[in-house]
Amino acid sequence: MNLEADIVIVGGGMAGLVAGTIASEGGLSSIVLRKGESATSMSSGAIDVVGYLPDGTIPFESPKEGLVALASLYPFHPYSILGFGEGKPAFAEKVITGVEAAVGWLKDKLKDSVAKIVGGLDSNILSLSILGTTKPTCLIQETMVSDGFANEFDSTLLFLGVKGYPDFFASAAAKSFLEQSEIEQEGPRKVAHSTVRISPFGNTCNISASEIARHLDHDDALGELLPQIKKTVDTLGATHVALPPILGIKNARGNRQRIEEEVGAIVFELLAFPPSIPGLRLQRALEETYRKSGGQLLLGHEALSAYKEKNRYVSVQAGAPRRSIRISTKAVVSATGKFIGGGLRGAEDGLTETVFNLMTVTGNLIQADNIRPYDYTSPFAVDTGGHSIFSCGLTVDPQFRPVMPDGQPDADNLFAAGSTLAGYDYLVEKSGLGVALVSGFYAGKNAADAAKEVD
Ligand SMILES: Cc1cc2nc3c(=O)[nH]c(=O)nc-3n(C[C@H](O)[C@H](O)[C@H](O)COP(=O)(O)OP(=O)(O)OC[C@H]3O[C@@H](n4cnc5c(N)ncnc54)[C@H](O)[C@@H]3O)c2cc1C
Repeated sequence: MNLEADIVIVGGGMAGLVAGTIASEGGLSSIVLRKGESATSMSSGAIDVVGYLPDGTIPFESPKEGLVALASLYPFHPYSILGFGEGKPAFAEKVITGVEAAVGWLKDKLKDSVAKIVGGLDSNILSLSILGTTKPTCLIQETMVSDGFANEFDSTLLFLGVKGYPDFFASAAAKSFLEQSEIEQEGPRKVAHSTVRISPFGNTCNISASEIARHLDHDDALGELLPQIKKTVDTLGATHVALPPILGIKNARGNRQRIEEEVGAIVFELLAFPPSIPGLRLQRALEETYRKSGGQLLLGHEALSAYKEKNRYVSVQAGAPRRSIRISTKAVVSATGKFIGGGLRGAEDGLTETVFNLMTVTGNLIQADNIRPYDYTSPFAVDTGGHSIFSCGLTVDPQFRPVMPDGQPDADNLFAAGSTLAGYDYLVEKSGLGVALVSGFYAGKNAADAAKEVD
């Protein structure tokens, strides 16, 4: 089967969907291919821009502060690339303006969606996690806004778990939160914990977050929960209620508002590990935004190879279980993710890029085609210094075109975005969805310009 699109985007996580939406908004036809689940849908759903220096040492008060540091110290970081101009090194101001434009655009796109986001580059938000710990992040979903319990003299924070839901222990979260608050000598006046009962689809034990969230998407499901929350809040005098992120996939914002109205306290969702409902909400909201812009999303379709004529890609070959398609195109964006998405593959004899056979490099820009991935991981599974394998990937020019060993772009019309890029470790510096957003935004714009050149 043959299809045509001005731009083909390989990969449908944050980076690919942003690039696709930008291309569609530029008046071009686009197709996004997504073969499977994305890291985006497994994330906490809070968008980190930059929380720490790449070596994990210095926490930033604000993403702006972080971007200035990156532009001066790490000129090849994917954000710093925005500051390059006519061969000159990164200018922090240009980087900040560039990131601000992408963040402002996303906030506007998601404002009426299930994943409405709040926050900005002027300060990092210290968001609470299901462990009772905090993490600096830039943009959080509206359902995660906790409205300053730490600063209110008379506040009581209640961690509320669900019986039979094994992924969140309200008592452990309360304990570690309290220990941390004592060290930092700030926090609410009182911390409490409790549990409520809920039986999604009749199930009362080993309940998953997605079962609860799907259950709470039904109109009448809150009825079982509201009297229990109200009773607990009244008994403990809670002013703030921290729930695991289970408030719904489609209706979390409405559910939150209804609970707040009924119980008279501020209710918010904590950050969680996968499978995380806010991550799923973000993925869905991005997909909806892309479709609304006029783009075509082909789920379950894997790009297998691409064909070049002279220095331009002219088609992408893709396969799905029951069909094989060839898409003729004028420009291509590769947003295939890292190891989870499948854009990079590690084997004993090196790291390979899986669709275009592009050069891979380490975080220090050394060619990675022959490295042993084993040597780039720490023996400690959880290492504060991270695993340097995560900063490996593709190296790009200032237009986000992947560069080959001769220092030249692989093609005039191939762009790369998201976690497939080298030069940053999102686990350490807390920048995952932010880099995906920003690089997707500019790779999409540059791909649109390249496609227009063909006409
Ligand atoms: C558990 C976890 C928690 C995280 N938490 C956070 C967080 O709280 N905040 C934050 O900012 N970041 C977080 N991150 C990082 C963040 O999720 C990623 O950096 C970001 O989602 C990367 O987006 P992406 O679009 O580049 O890749 P992905 O979201 O991985 O998307 C890549 C897509 O490409 C598709 N694909 C790959 N190859 C092909 C092909 N050949 N054909 C078609 N499709 C293909 C994949 O199926 C996938 O859908 C987390 C990551 C993980 C794993």
